[in-house]
Amino acid sequence: MSPFARVLFYVRQLRGQYALGAILTLAFAGCFQLVPLAVRAVVVRLDAGLDVMPAIWGLIGVAVLTAGVRMASRLVLFRAAREIEYRLRNDFLSQLQRLPQSFFNQNRTGDLMSRAVNDITSVRLFLGMALLNIVQTPVLYALAIGVMMAMDMTLALCVLAPYPLFIIIGRVFGWRMHAANLAVQEQLGRLSTRVQENAAGVLVVRSYAIEEQEKARFAVENDALLDRWVRLAGVNAAMQPTIGMLPAIATIVVLFVGGGRVQQGLMTSADLWAFFTYIFVLTFPTFMMGWVIAMFQRGMASLQRLGEILDVVPAIRDHDDVAQMRQIGGAISARSIHFRYNDDEREAALVGVSFDVAQGQTLGIVGPVGAGKSTLVNLIPRVFGLPDGCLSIDGVDVNRVPLHLLRSSIAMVPQDSFLFSTTIADNIRFGVPDASLDEVREAARRAHVLEDIEEFSMGFDTPVGERGITLSGGQRQRIALARALILDPAILILDDAMSSVDAATEEAILKDLRAARAGRSCFIVAHRLSAVRDADLILVLGEQGDAQELGTHDELVRSGGFYASLWEHQQFESEIEEEVA
Ligand code: ADP
Repeated sequence: MSPFARVLFYVRQLRGQYALGAILTLAFAGCFQLVPLAVRAVVVRLDAGLDVMPAIWGLIGVAVLTAGVRMASRLVLFRAAREIEYRLRNDFLSQLQRLPQSFFNQNRTGDLMSRAVNDITSVRLFLGMALLNIVQTPVLYALAIGVMMAMDMTLALCVLAPYPLFIIIGRVFGWRMHAANLAVQEQLGRLSTRVQENAAGVLVVRSYAIEEQEKARFAVENDALLDRWVRLAGVNAAMQPTIGMLPAIATIVVLFVGGGRVQQGLMTSADLWAFFTYIFVLTFPTFMMGWVIAMFQRGMASLQRLGEILDVVPAIRDHDDVAQMRQIGGAISARSIHFRYNDDEREAALVGVSFDVAQGQTLGIVGPVGAGKSTLVNLIPRVFGLPDGCLSIDGVDVNRVPLHLLRSSIAMVPQDSFLFSTTIADNIRFGVPDASLDEVREAARRAHVLEDIEEFSMGFDTPVGERGITLSGGQRQRIALARALILDPAILILDDAMSSVDAATEEAILKDLRAARAGRSCFIVAHRLSAVRDADLILVLGEQGDAQELGTHDELVRSGGFYASLWEHQQFESEIEEEVA
């Protein structure tokens, strides 16, 4: 969608408000013409030696009316602009929710935040103040030209002669403003990213004592922003006085040419006053045009940047051939999955992986770091896309399963779970906002984190900072686990979700899980083989992302392959640990 099409799209949604705004704006343009005429009436009475008071009252009345209509038009249009700003922000967030994981790998958080805040604000300024002036000023001028020409054609033409210059100046400055604005907005995005990373990564910065380097890196970006702002201010500084000169030129023309015509008896001094007042009242709208050009260009630059996000069509979405499914049982089969991340030059992450998991079964997945275990489990909720025919759920190709049904039937606990900045209870009931405290407690109990929570003075109401910084790694992982368990999903995926939990607690959690989740499918990625020992099926991935072994624990131990040697090794380690203890 072009920036213009996007403006129309939103303005159309608020047709009524914009129509009313346009009517009020046009009414203002009409009232505006009455001011010079009212001044003229005062001078006419003065010249004729009549009582001027009625004309003065008239002038006051006209001034009050003009101000009232002006205020109303602004109220209506600025409100509409706020409304669009609100809708645009909501649409922006909804779009972020739709976009695939790969998008977030390529776009930085700070930059997205800058678009959501700065760019949307400039669109609002454009849709309010700028749009109002774009509609109003030409009408104001057209009417003014008409009235001036009716009063004195020659003087009107002389006064208007320098105005075409205005259009040329506007065009020249317009594109410069656009480029300068785009540069500023882009740099603001970069700077926001640096601020965001420094805030989120403050522990790393401090522990490596690289505050000075970070300050220097920030200063480079900040300098660049200053440069770009200065460049923009330069364009603006040149444009505003250039445009501001026009009324001054017009004033000189009125005094010089108009004064001469009055002396020659070709026009009345009342008309001269009316002309003079016109120039005076037109000064502000003319001056505003400079500002409007700046706002317009800034709004367009921002709309362009927002379009870069809003117009991305997510590849992972429901297509026309989506299956009519109401429920997911949880039988999953993989047929020779080959997968590589976008970057084609890299090696494939998965090479020919196949397995069949019946509904209610548990698949354990093990293998060295980087083997593709996380990649594999991320393919099930379509975090990353696969071609047709590789993965099916209840016999339906995963690409045909309605995306919302698919994702709401799966709970995934990654190794590094994100906790939201709210209470522990709200973090646990995240997927079921109306869950009772008893249900929250039960989920916490099953995740073996209830005792920890009850030890906090505020219990379940304890706020957890961004990323749950006040909690230990193990507590965070178990709260994330409770958040998944409360959903009781058809498919549960634990992606190395208990790496910071001790072996005994992990075993106890898994034992409870087996009892509670009878009949529901599970995928468990783990480093400790004790976590997958009781799985119905264990998949061993090799370093190249290839499926090396597949079978039950006993089968794999008997076959004497990678799994068997790893098992022996881990048994040996735990025996030593026990002896040391
Ligand atoms: P594991 O979970 O077994 O440690 P991963 O599935 O995380 O392995 O990674 C498998 C391979 O894919 C690795 O080579 C890793 O670098 C690569 N990889 C993982 N995630 C991404 C990503 N988002 N983009 C590109 N490559 C990735």
